[in-house]
Amino acid sequence: MKKLFSSQDAFELQAIRSELDALSIPYMVKNEFASGAIGELPWQDSQQEVWLVDDSWYARASKVVDAFMQNSHDVKNVKEDWRCKQCGEENGGAFEVCWQCDTSPHN
Ligand SMILES: [Zn+2]
Repeated sequence: MKKLFSSQDAFELQAIRSELDALSIPYMVKNEFASGAIGELPWQDSQQEVWLVDDSWYARASKVVDAFMQNSHDVKNVKEDWRCKQCGEENGGAFEVCWQCDTSPHN
């Protein structure tokens, strides 16, 4: 199990979770109240954490988080999922380039 992402912002958490769902990446959500301390600071006690069930997804899942963080300021402009014209992979709307082959949909 590997911790992927944590936030106190329910909107951020939901956005990440829906991206992971779209990619069929298995994860679980931990809440500090429910799970007990894992070395976190007390003021983070309402923070929720997204953990990967299978570490082998980490590289892919971390791209989801990175893409989300890069775009979080304009994420309210809801972006459509898109299919890469290079390799045919489905990409979440938060991706600027294909997670699989780094092709931009705008080229
Ligand atoms: Zn691609």
